[in-house]
Amino acid sequence: MKLFTVGPVMMDPETLEIGANPLPYFRTAEFSKLMCEIEYLMKKFVGTNEKSKISILTASGTAAMEASIINLFNEKDKLLIVNGGSFGERFVQICQIHNIPFSEIKLNFGEELKSDFLQQYDNDGFTGLVCNIHETSTGQLYPIDILSDFSRRNNLFFVVDAISSFLADEFYMDKWSIDATILSSQKSLALPPGLSFVIFNERSLSKQKNIKVKSLYLNLNHYFIDMLRGQTPFTPAVGIIFQLHDKLNRIDQSGINYYLEQVQSLAGDFRCRLSELNFILPSYPLSSALTPIICPLNNAYDIFSEAKDLLSLFVTPSGGELSSKLLRIGHLGNLTVEDNKILIDYLSTKTK
Ligand SMILES: *Cc1c(COP(=O)(O)O)cnc(C)c1O
Repeated sequence: MKLFTVGPVMMDPETLEIGANPLPYFRTAEFSKLMCEIEYLMKKFVGTNEKSKISILTASGTAAMEASIINLFNEKDKLLIVNGGSFGERFVQICQIHNIPFSEIKLNFGEELKSDFLQQYDNDGFTGLVCNIHETSTGQLYPIDILSDFSRRNNLFFVVDAISSFLADEFYMDKWSIDATILSSQKSLALPPGLSFVIFNERSLSKQKNIKVKSLYLNLNHYFIDMLRGQTPFTPAVGIIFQLHDKLNRIDQSGINYYLEQVQSLAGDFRCRLSELNFILPSYPLSSALTPIICPLNNAYDIFSEAKDLLSLFVTPSGGELSSKLLRIGHLGNLTVEDNKILIDYLSTKTK
């Protein structure tokens, strides 16, 4: 089996091995030490300073999206949401459910986010800007400098879901004036699904003090306070914490840039081989996590099913109206150039 998906992805042998171990009790000094090391390395890898705080949730990434919004904003705020696909749409749903006022920049499939899309919202009473820096449903990587400039000049709180971009594309929380970063375990960290993360900077932490959060499990304040002693308010996914600790240490040993280059060169290799075939790539900027390919024969879903059933190769299908048109090929996790070759050989039989 080979996963060319975006999550879960192929796990490293080290991660699999740790997953087979029995779990210890976790309210201990030893476990707390591990958690503090995790906090240190996560903050280092997202490029933020020691005043920022991390909360580790046992939940999928959507919980971290919802937690970020309801801990930072309420009905007195006004958010601008970049909605270029199903993950942007998720932020829209969250704001609707929690009665948080918003406007959305809605992109049609294929449309690239440009600076003039944002300019019309300047000086319009917004308090926050929310985006998925890589909209995984289409593969578009949004222009962080344009978003970051807009957020700064309007003095907004800038919330970035970097779940499918972290460790595939560069990411600098402080340099880009990002106030809240959202991450999860099953994408580029190549861990099992089950952990997600919210990192607030000092500015977010002080705004959060004025928000009355109507949730027990997703009140991040409990997580930030407990994290001071390396703990979580509720039982964490203990096994994935051990896998995370190991993975972060391995990334630290080789250096994050080395790790990024690996993903980028795998994506580059795939795109180069693909250019020989009759598929079409969208014209917007892409994340190195994923190559979205448009199938001119409208056989995207059939390619997905057949590759799965005959060869145990899992490419990522698309939902809704894009299901026959768009395939998504993930480059995250334990994949090699040899794996790319196998997939390209197969894809070459599926186009004219
Ligand atoms: C995968 C992903 C999520 C999280 O989805 P879950 O299924 O809740 O883990 C959120 N945002 C983006 C951009 C993603 O790619």
